[in-house]
This record gives sequence, structure tokens and C-alpha cells, in this order.
Amino acid sequence: MKNYDIAIIGGGPAGLAAAIAAKEQGIDDIIIIERDNCLGGILNQCIHNGFGLHTFKEELTGPEYAQRFIDQVNELKIPYILNSMVIDINEEKILTVVNSSDGLLEIKAKAVILAMGCRERPRGAINIPGSRCAGIYSAGAAQKFVNIEGVMPGKEIVILGSGDIGLIMARRMTLEGAKVKAVVELMPYSSGLKRNIVQCLDDFNIPLKLSHTVVDIKGKDRLEGVIIAKVDENRKPIKETEEYIPCDTLLLSVGLLPENELSTKANVELSGVTGGPQVNESFQTNIDGIFACGNVLHVHDLVDNVTIESINAGNSAANYVKGKEYGQEGIDIVAEGGVRYTVPKKINPDNIEKEIDIRFRVGEVFHDNYVSVYFDDSREIYRKKRILTPGEMETIKLNKDMLNKYPHCKKIRVTVEK
Ligand SMILES: Cc1cc2nc3c(=O)[nH]c(=O)nc-3n(C[C@H](O)[C@H](O)[C@H](O)COP(=O)(O)OP(=O)(O)OC[C@H]3O[C@@H](n4cnc5c(N)ncnc54)[C@H](O)[C@@H]3O)c2cc1C
Repeated sequence: MKNYDIAIIGGGPAGLAAAIAAKEQGIDDIIIIERDNCLGGILNQCIHNGFGLHTFKEELTGPEYAQRFIDQVNELKIPYILNSMVIDINEEKILTVVNSSDGLLEIKAKAVILAMGCRERPRGAINIPGSRCAGIYSAGAAQKFVNIEGVMPGKEIVILGSGDIGLIMARRMTLEGAKVKAVVELMPYSSGLKRNIVQCLDDFNIPLKLSHTVVDIKGKDRLEGVIIAKVDENRKPIKETEEYIPCDTLLLSVGLLPENELSTKANVELSGVTGGPQVNESFQTNIDGIFACGNVLHVHDLVDNVTIESINAGNSAANYVKGKEYGQEGIDIVAEGGVRYTVPKKINPDNIEKEIDIRFRVGEVFHDNYVSVYFDDSREIYRKKRILTPGEMETIKLNKDMLNKYPHCKKIRVTVEK
């Protein structure tokens, strides 16, 4: 068995930023374990720009953004292993890793950072009826084919789901010469960023069909077309609105799921809403010494936020190795009134130096409402927001003065109010 101070599972932007932060805190004995054949994670296939506006104040492509962190990892001589998949982890922080050179490898770490990212929700999870013909891909798989393998999955495309990946792929397929006939969205609003709707659909005259879904898939060997229909307020298809769209490819962009099978093996408690670990202000899970950051924690729309969180997780893991105990005590943060979840879920003011970012998403679109934060029954924050949408992650800062003002606070509530 090999021993390390910190083992990081996943070499995407989260794992890389966490590793760099821990190293800069003076921890040398780190290992990043990555199952792919290179570092960088999902960013390697995101060749569009729009990354790093906050972190570097410039617009980078995904691979460029990742490379800045890979270069730092190399400069700081942080060890990593590639083509190595962690297949097991337990509460004692013993990891089982498999790769073709070592076979099975056991690693014991004083602290572990979970940074495994997320995966796409497949067709089976959304129960679309119809034929099981070829030509149906998840949008991320299609993105990998086009951007990494140089292969086009089809010529006439319908995309189900208007999250960021669906929007980005609508533009990408168009630029590569395909005809994107429609982006079909079940909800009455897109869950993607506004800028992506404008730059990826409007600029290319691609229709966005809100409150619609795919109700049938036609084709024998290869997809020949899909039937879409409008849905009512209960998301049930309305029969007389059915419309046939001939196409050879259906791309599914119907949600991302944090990759947490490993986390559950270590008895890490997961949120029923995000599917990611419940963490405290220091990104520690309910298991002392196991931290989580990035998309494995909750799905992010901006990688810059992944980086900020992961630096904090790396710093916390480094402090843990140096002897700091974060414990499991703290004030519960409760999501209410339109707020679906918060990260963190618990905060211990003793571990907060100046301020803490509370990240959250709302469950529906709100116009001209207020985000309120209550310390028990006292409203401390009441901030007007012109628009709140499920597609955009929101942040609210709690500072030390607020926390000191309510030394006996039991519950902090984050809510949307008129
Ligand atoms: C299509 C798409 C478009 C996007 N567009 C933008 C954009 O325009 N601007 C922006 O700021 N952000 C964008 N994002 C978001 C951003 O890319 C992600 O938030 C970010 O990459 C998440 O980083 P991560 O490290 O948590 O996950 P990932 O990048 O997914 O990295 C996780 C890594 O963990 C590895 N791993 C998983 N399990 C194991 C295991 N058991 N053992 C070993 N390794 C493992 C994986 O191989 C992977 O390399 C986009 C994301 C997608 C998918």
C-alpha cells in the first residue's frame, strides 16, 4: 500500500485547482488520480470560448483554461497518474485504483478530495418511447466525437434539452455543416445561460421550442425522425400539437448527474437535490478528512466557480493534514421558498476568516424578487434581483460581522421573497 498526505480523485479543473492550492499550503505528498489519458477533464472537449472570464479576465477555450492549471501542476511538480481509475474508497481513506501497469493498487491518504465531475443523464432515465435505432447520442458524447475524434454523428439534428451543453452543441453542429432543426425544451424556460441562448441559437436562427418534448422516435436501423409535442403545465404532451421532424440524429442534453458512486462507498452523505455530497464551509463532507469540490459536489455553469471552490477545498485538506479538525458541528443552512439547495449545507463560523460564499439555485424563474437571508427569525440580507433562473447559479456572501451578530443562531434560511 502506498501512503500519501492527500489523494485527489479526478484531474479535471476541480482536482487540479485543489492540488495546486494544497501544494501552495506546503503539502508536498499529493497524488492526483485520473482515469483518462490526460489531465483537464471535460474542458478538453469544450473547444468553444467563454471560459475564465472571472479567473483570468479573458475569454479562453476549455483546453486553454485547463492548460493553465496543468502547467502549474507541472511547474510545482505535483505527482499524478493517468489511465488509473479509482474503483473503491472507504471511510479509512483507503483507495483501490486499477490501471494496466500496476493492476490493482492500494493508496492510503490522510485526506481525500473527491473531484470526479459528473456524467450525462441517458435516454433510459427519461423514458422516451419509440424505436431503439442508431443515431441517438448524449450531447457530451457527440461533442467528444466532433471535437476530439473529428467525426460527425449526423447531418440533420434535433436536440432535446436546452441546458448549456445542448445549446453549445447546436452551434457546434451548425458550424460543422449540419442542420439543427430545433432545440426542444420541456420546461417553459431554458436552463442554459442567457449568453448561450443568444450566441448559440439566436445568432444561427435555430428555433427553441419551449414547453415541448420528444414523444416518439421513428426509424428502423438509423433514426429517421422524431415526433415532438407541446406539453401542458403538468408537462403532459398535448396530442393535437404533435409535429413530425425528419432527422438522422437526436442529441440528448437532459441533465448532468454528479459522479458519486465512490462517495457512497465511503459513506459520504449526499444531497437528495444536487446528488452531490453535503459539505460544510470548508468543503468537508460528513466524513472527517474527505472533501469534495467541482461538479461532483453540484453542477456548475461556470468553471471559474469550480476553481474558486476547489482552491478552498485544497486549502482545507492541507490544513486538515497539518492537524486542523473541522468537526461536524455548525449552523444549518436551509433552502426555502423557491431556493432548491445551498452549498455549503452547514457552516461553522469559527472556521470562517472574513466571509463565506453561499451558492444556490432557484427552482423556477423569478422576476423582480428579493433574495433574503434570515439568521433564525432576523432578516439580515434582502437583495433585489431583476431575474433569477434555474440555469444560473447564484452566490450570496455572509461576512464575519453578520455571523458575530448572531452568536446563538441555529439556522440560516436562504429564500426568495416578493
Ligand atoms: C459541454 C460543456 C460546456 C461547458 N461550457 C462552459 C463554458 O462555456 N464556460 C464555463 O466556464 N464552463 C463551462 N462548462 C462547465 C465546466 O466545464 C465544468 O464546470 C468543469 O469542467 C467541472 O470540473 P470538474 O473538475 O468538477 O469535472 P470534470 O471536468 O468532469 O473532471 C472530472 C475528472 O475526474 C475524472 N474521474 C471521474 N471519476 C474518476 C475515477 N473513479 N477515477 C479517476 N478519475 C476519475 C474524469 O475522468 C475527469 O477527468 C461546460 C461544461 C460542459 C460539459
